[in-house]
Amino acid sequence: MCGIVGYIGNRQAFPILIKGLQRLEYRGYDSAGIALIHNGELNLYKQKGKVADLQRFVEQQDTEGTIGIAHTRWATHGEPNERNAHPHYSQTENLALIHNGIIENYAVIKEMLLEEGYVFRSETDTEVLVQLIDFMQKTNNVCLAEAVQLALSQAVGAYAIAVLEKGNNNQIVAARKGSPLVVGIGKDEFFLASDATPIVEYTDKVVYIGDEEIVTLNRNGEMKIVTISNVEKTPEIKKIEMSLSQLEKGGYPHFMLKEIFEQPKTLADSMRGRINVDANNISLSGFIDNKDKFLNAKRIIITACGTSWHAGLIGKYAFEEFARVPVEVEYSSEFRYRKPVINKDDIVIAISQSGETADTLAAVELAKSKGAFIFGVCNVVGSSIPRATHSGCYTHVGPEIGVASTKAFSAQVLALTMLALLLAKEKETISDDFYIKLINEINLIPIKIKEILKINNELKDFARTFTYAQNFIYLGRAYNYPVAMEGALKLKEISYIHAEGYPAAEMKHGPIALINQEMPVVVIATNAATYEKVVSNIQEIKARKGRIISVVTKGDTIVKNISDYVIEVPATEECLMPILAVIPLQLMAYHIAVAKECNVDQPRNLAKSVTVE
Ligand code: GLU
Repeated sequence: MCGIVGYIGNRQAFPILIKGLQRLEYRGYDSAGIALIHNGELNLYKQKGKVADLQRFVEQQDTEGTIGIAHTRWATHGEPNERNAHPHYSQTENLALIHNGIIENYAVIKEMLLEEGYVFRSETDTEVLVQLIDFMQKTNNVCLAEAVQLALSQAVGAYAIAVLEKGNNNQIVAARKGSPLVVGIGKDEFFLASDATPIVEYTDKVVYIGDEEIVTLNRNGEMKIVTISNVEKTPEIKKIEMSLSQLEKGGYPHFMLKEIFEQPKTLADSMRGRINVDANNISLSGFIDNKDKFLNAKRIIITACGTSWHAGLIGKYAFEEFARVPVEVEYSSEFRYRKPVINKDDIVIAISQSGETADTLAAVELAKSKGAFIFGVCNVVGSSIPRATHSGCYTHVGPEIGVASTKAFSAQVLALTMLALLLAKEKETISDDFYIKLINEINLIPIKIKEILKINNELKDFARTFTYAQNFIYLGRAYNYPVAMEGALKLKEISYIHAEGYPAAEMKHGPIALINQEMPVVVIATNAATYEKVVSNIQEIKARKGRIISVVTKGDTIVKNISDYVIEVPATEECLMPILAVIPLQLMAYHIAVAKECNVDQPRNLAKSVTVE
């Protein structure tokens, strides 16, 4: 969601800023803009649409300057158009500001500024902030960093901002609260970005800016961090592990396809050092170091949004089946506002690919304040949620660029399953034989996914026949029910076809009314305790002429005979089937979207890292 890039150093800023915005395109946006200082002048360039549109627009103009800030906007306040695009000037065009997030009390501040004679050119909450900084600077006669500090002490909400000042070729002032911000340290130069992806090709040294911190990046190589309440902080330099090749498409037409195909490797990476077949054990340091907390927990609450929430549901089934501990799975946005009962002996597991999901971060803070023990399952190392939790487990799948999550999902399910099995083993609620069997089965997952991926071409042809569809239903039971929801979510996210995931048996309590010969129904009917029940559910759909696309275990004949189209996946234990069964659903959604000529990697209205609530 929204991208921020900044540069100060000896090179030309413009190409670095444009490339940085392109690296951040995956986050989702609807307009883009740049501010550069050259010969003391502060120049803005903004365009609705893609970064390429901005680049074309700016091509014929003067883009010189060795200091600049750039932004891709995901509109919250005001239409996505050129006027509302960032950067925003202050009244006298003395300051330019970019902003990710929402200033919740913008209306009150705007009213005050209107009374002071300020005039507004956009409908954004952001413009209010730049005007407030300007007002603070003028009324208090202070430098830019101090004016930012004074203004932010009045702003309520979430933000990452960067500000430039006309005539000041030597400084970028940036700050954050809630929304992410990273500084890259080069040789006599600084980079600024919403995440490390625009920085990695220049340096591996970064400083993650903390909440309520203001950073001043000086041309002389000095970097100063001070909190809004004026406490000076020493920058903590970290090394980023990400490589440039992880950020490229590697020959695939889309990041999403690349990421689907990466899953044998990413899951192997996720289990490296954790699944040990020879020693028959699972090792997760985040669990081992806090074993007593887990053993004494009366309840686990899983909090997440979107795809991560689906992974959480699968985790619930595993924790309850094996570790016999009650689990509640909560949408973070509901959990944080509905006055939930949280006890000191609860464990809260927060799941987020980006580690920046605003609602999940807020749910973490809430649960922490009530004394619960918080465990994070995140992908982006050093992001906000892992920093806010007591312990956790990274998924280690590398950068996920496609907006529709694929490889992060399978690794989240794996992480939760490993955690559930480890707890079960410690609690002795699982037999040694079954524990060992599951370890061996987990170890085989990457090979089995490779096998499934062989159907890619076949699915591509098949998917074309479904571009006509207006609706899809996905059905599954037990562990496969969240898979049905995830399959439906993938399809709607990228192909804009309405799709619903339902527990198969719930069909007859409503959705069955929708079934006719036009309606494709995807049923996940792999070997499971509920297999016969699912067969009956399929018969009910058949009887109403629905078109059945089934995902079955290799060798299945019963469901095969009553399906219009069958996708086979290798056999595995029921609790691990979601990781296999979701693969063809990801591919199917991808190919339908491509056949419909949709923008797969950047679907309309969606953002990758949802940093506003
Ligand atoms: N709230 C701001 C706007 O609507 C910033 C949105 C963003 O994060 O891109 O302009």
